[in-house]
Amino acid sequence: MPAAPDDTTPDPTIAELIAARPHLRLHAMDGLVMEDVPLNRVADVVGTPTWVYSAGALRTRYRALTTALRDAGLDAHAHYAVKANDHLAILALLGREGAGADVVSEGELRRARAAGIPAARIVYSGVGKTERELRLALTEDIGQINIESVEELRMLSALAASMGRTARVAPRINPDVDAGTHDKISTGRAGDKFGVPWADAAALYAEAARLPGIEPVGLATHIGSQIMDLAPYRAAFARIAELVRVLRDQGHTVRVVDCGGGLGIPYRNQPGPGAEALAGAIKAAFHNLDVRVALEPGRWLVGPAGVLLASVILQKQTAGTRFVVLDAAMNDLVRPAMYEAWHGIVPVAAAAAVASVSPCDIVGPVCETGDTFARDRLLPMLSPGMRIAILDAGAYGAVMSSPYNARPRAAEVLIDGAAWTVVRPRQTHEALWADEIMPA
Ligand SMILES: *Cc1c(COP(=O)(O)O)cnc(C)c1O
Repeated sequence: MPAAPDDTTPDPTIAELIAARPHLRLHAMDGLVMEDVPLNRVADVVGTPTWVYSAGALRTRYRALTTALRDAGLDAHAHYAVKANDHLAILALLGREGAGADVVSEGELRRARAAGIPAARIVYSGVGKTERELRLALTEDIGQINIESVEELRMLSALAASMGRTARVAPRINPDVDAGTHDKISTGRAGDKFGVPWADAAALYAEAARLPGIEPVGLATHIGSQIMDLAPYRAAFARIAELVRVLRDQGHTVRVVDCGGGLGIPYRNQPGPGAEALAGAIKAAFHNLDVRVALEPGRWLVGPAGVLLASVILQKQTAGTRFVVLDAAMNDLVRPAMYEAWHGIVPVAAAAAVASVSPCDIVGPVCETGDTFARDRLLPMLSPGMRIAILDAGAYGAVMSSPYNARPRAAEVLIDGAAWTVVRPRQTHEALWADEIMPA
């Protein structure tokens, strides 16, 4: 993967990181505060590591997105990509704001329903839906199923016909564009496993229109995640718009264009497109086609709304490097190990947040060198027990955690103004092996 253009620019300072995140501020006495709750107070009560989410930030971001779409004159609906953070409290909060859900498994479909999101607002994506999962989607009569191959289309048709149901279907088109993001989260190139090749789309749509139990309603695409440049979106939308015209010329009905998710967030305070820019690109591609627009945002909605709160176990000096060892690890937040992701890291104590800084490596206690949150990061001296917050951990954080090294799942807290709730208590060690069976 080519180096991102911002790789050589200096890291933002602690003050700059906090200033760019409206739900966070530094209080002279209380230290880092989220909404109206000092994070040290949460750590005192719940311990660390703990995920902490801001309900206010979630609402603000959802409303900013829908406002941008409305201001662009689009008839658009957001289906929150559940995989980014599938906690029921977050699904319920976004559901109350009006969000639908984009799900990729039976578990996510059941979660979305359990959180009160109406079936009609649910879109089902994914390259390998099992027969059992498709059956559930048909039984629930969800809003839309994005099919990813002709094989899946035929399987769905047979199932729907046997159940006396009709599936509203949008083929996910692989537009063959490179989203310019990390290799592991690019999904719209010809060699990626996702979607129907652009060139096969018209034939597949015609087959969908003929098959029993299937109602083709439109087209879908999703080209990748953490996209910080509008150009790949524009290229993909242009191809989809062209396909809408081709299909309509052939007499097909195309009511919906599902533009997927993928909008990136400024982890490193780097410039990038926001909701207005994305809405503008959608508008430019589809404004004269009279289509309903669907979006599947995940990271953009929840990523900035969460932090991972951790404590310093110790600092050690080894071969010229200062290592800050945290009680959080790659089993909690895997993004740095998996995607070489950069996350802002800030001390929670007020004095530490303004103290002089020097380079250090921030690591977890897991037995892997990949268990490194940051290298050469400028941070103050940190003594055992001091807390730090790893920023922008609301998306692809808790959902990707594992019990590796027999480490229980971290607690989760939702802050709303001055109120805060433990929305998942820290897992107990006993719970880790509660479902294991030893043969007699
Ligand atoms: C992962 C995914 C999304 C959400 O991606 P974000 O980058 O979190 O916005 C949306 N749609 C599909 C099909 C996905 O797989």
